[in-house]
Amino acid sequence: MRKNTKEIRVGAVRIGGTAPISIQSMCNTDTKDVESTAKQILAMESEGVDIVRIAINNLEDAQAIPKIKEKIHVPLIADIQFDYQLALYAVEYGIDGLRLNPGNIGENWKIEKVVNACKEKGISIRVGVNSGSVKQEFLDQYNGVNAESICYSALEQIKTLESFDFHDIKVSLKSSDVRLSVEAYRRFSEMSDYPLHLGITEAGPSFKGTIKSAIGMGSLLLDGIGDTIRVSLTADPVEEVKVAKEILKSLDLRQEGINLISCPTCARTKIDLIPLVEEAEKRFSSYTDNLKIAIMGCIVNGPGEAKEADYGITGGNGKGVVFKKGEIVATVKEEELLDTLFEIIESDRNEQHS
Ligand code: SF4
Repeated sequence: MRKNTKEIRVGAVRIGGTAPISIQSMCNTDTKDVESTAKQILAMESEGVDIVRIAINNLEDAQAIPKIKEKIHVPLIADIQFDYQLALYAVEYGIDGLRLNPGNIGENWKIEKVVNACKEKGISIRVGVNSGSVKQEFLDQYNGVNAESICYSALEQIKTLESFDFHDIKVSLKSSDVRLSVEAYRRFSEMSDYPLHLGITEAGPSFKGTIKSAIGMGSLLLDGIGDTIRVSLTADPVEEVKVAKEILKSLDLRQEGINLISCPTCARTKIDLIPLVEEAEKRFSSYTDNLKIAIMGCIVNGPGEAKEADYGITGGNGKGVVFKKGEIVATVKEEELLDTLFEIIESDRNEQHS
């Protein structure tokens, strides 16, 4: 059962409450390079990103915001480190959300200015604590870096914003330690109803980072915790979006796109399955239809899985069968299996869309 959190917005995207769990990522381009930044965002959009964050390091970056927005279709969040003036510029130039910690902004009058600008434009703010940035007083009070010190550090940031009567807040509690992240989010979820931005920070390169992210975020999402997610990989941000989408799809929290089921292969495998599945993954990658496709290597377990899918292939000796909604619709040579499956699906899609 999903935890009921307060609903906020980033542009047109709802976060929290009953809103679908959204996918975020962050550009690694130079923000003021409008062409490169927009190109990267469009590539992320094609994989299903809902919100993109950009770093705002100077006035030129802020001035690029409207030019980037002209070329893209998803809301933008400005990542602000310390300078309240850059936050104000980002708001002035049309940003949809801010990521900042009031504790880094400094004096109260600066925070108040940012908060008032956000209120005026209906802009939400994400506050966040990384395990490496917990304040000394909380480390002392709660005996080091742990879920308690992370949570109370985040609550302090929230209280500062609330003191200016600002409540359009979402919260992240990140650590590269999966257990610590999960504990912190679970604990915080008991303490607050603000929506949560899930992330396992600095998760590492694609392979390791994907596993860490899937375990961490998957555990939380299964608990009903989390309103928006960002996978952090040392890789192209487009990869982050792909991984995030697969995490949500594997938990039935996002339906769009093909759910490809394939067997791990074994000594009974009767067709050259691995390249077949790789090719299928490529061919169906652009589909946004909510379809389950099973590609199985033999007649032992194959027909069962293939029959339960919308479409499927089961390999035999140098040949195989294609299933549709549980019925065999073709028996063809191995080398024709994928083309046949593809033609059948395409023909059904054309019929549906005509
Ligand atoms: S479906 Fe058949 S080929 Fe694939 S792993 Fe299972 S037994 Fe082996």
